[in-house]
Order: sequence, then C-alpha cells, then structure tokens
Amino acid sequence: MRETAMQENAHDRLATNIAHVRASITEAAQRGGRDANDITLVAVSKTVAVELVKIAYNLGVTHFGENRVQDALPKIAEFRPRGVYWHMIGHVQSNKASKVVAAFDSVQSVDSLHLAQALQRHAEEEGKRLPVLLQVNVSGEASKEGMTVAETPELARQIAELPALEVQGLMTIAPLVEQPEEVRPVFRALRELRERLQNEVPDCSWQHLSMGMTDDYRIAIEEGATIVRVGRAIFGERVYKGVTS
Ligand SMILES: *Cc1c(COP(=O)(O)O)cnc(C)c1O
Repeated sequence: MRETAMQENAHDRLATNIAHVRASITEAAQRGGRDANDITLVAVSKTVAVELVKIAYNLGVTHFGENRVQDALPKIAEFRPRGVYWHMIGHVQSNKASKVVAAFDSVQSVDSLHLAQALQRHAEEEGKRLPVLLQVNVSGEASKEGMTVAETPELARQIAELPALEVQGLMTIAPLVEQPEEVRPVFRALRELRERLQNEVPDCSWQHLSMGMTDDYRIAIEEGATIVRVGRAIFGERVYKGVTS
C-alpha cells in the first residue's frame, strides 16, 4: 500500500516535471526559430533509481544518460525495452570501453583518440557501429574533460576514419556560472566549431550538438542544441550519500 502511494507520488511529480521541460523546449525552439521535433531530450538518470527511469519511460521519455559505467550497468541490464536509448555522457576509461560498447547505444563523451580506438576495437568485435559525439572543453577549464577547440579538427579527422564509430557531432559541458546567460558564448562557440568541421571533415554528418543541462538548456536550444541533457529538472535534486548537489 505504502509503496504504491509513493510510486503514485513519483509518477505525478515526474509527469509535472517532464511536461514543464517539454514546454520549455518548445518555447526555446520557437525563440530560436527552430522545430522542437529536432531536439532530443536525454533524461540524465545518474544517481536515480531504475524505478524512476521506468516511470519516466512510461511518461514518454526514451533517451537516458548516465555518467558512470559501474552505476549504469545494472540499470541498463534491468531496463532495456525496445525503443530505449542509453547515452554515456561521462568520462570513460579505455579499460571500460568493452562494457560501455556492450551496454550503451551511444557515447557522447569521446575525449581522446585513445578512447576512440578502444571503442572502435570493441564495436568492431561486436559487429556494431557505435554512434559517438566528440566532447569539447570549449571554456578551457582545467577541471573539465574534453578536447580543446584547437585540437578537435585533427582528432576529428582521425576518429572519423574509425569504421565502427559513427561520429555524429559534438558535446560540451558549460562552466558553472551565476547567470545562465553567461554560458551563451560557449554554446555559440560549439556551433561555430561544428560549422568548421562540416567543411573540414565532411565525411561525418555533424548533425548533433549536445549541449545544455537543467540550468541552461533553454539557452543551448536558442543556440542550436539538438540534444539537451536534463537531470535535476526531471528527477529532482540528486542525493549523493546523504548530500544533495
Ligand atoms: C549530470 C549531468 C547532466 C545533467 O545535469 P542537470 O544539471 O541535473 O540537468 C548533463 N550532462 C552531464 C555530462 C552530466 O554529468
């Protein structure tokens, strides 16, 4: 009884949150003169129990993002119905590449040639072609993963040649700021980098720009995001061993 009541609660809360996020996506798309159907909502389910992932799925969300291999694997093993798409969005150590290739449908966080080669090897072994995005550290913060803007074209050329990887675009994580508006130049720079790559490395589609999280996805959409990665606005504040973040 008690559990059922809790689940109904979670269902209502997620329904409200998801409706709000979807409405905001539509409004931001309109402001940017874009079609909201061109924007994929990835619900970031890190630290979130698989039960909530299932509820979100029942509310129409089909893309989920996780940033830690070990946390994600049991969830993916438990919940992988037809039509669900799991995105790796966190740093991947090359020695985990085989697990990542086996479990995930795409890797948005390719940040080195070494990792790309490891993913290539395992994808080839499994006979699949893995969609990937190149993660770019646009702001150049030392604490952030990702290639620098300057090194991306050359790395893109090399990674584009790996036949079991399908390079579909770029991903970035904006710096933490006081005002979301401050990150607009970061999103704009990623879009400009994509334009450059479309010319310089034309064998990839470069269709995707994965940028924007809870605090800044509206701005990212105005600047051309095709994928937004939203965690807290859907699932609520994260709880890490008793600490919220
Ligand atoms: C946690 C995370 C998100 C989601 O962040 P929210 O602020 O909860 O929306 C998006 N992208 C990456 C790479 C993350 O690690």
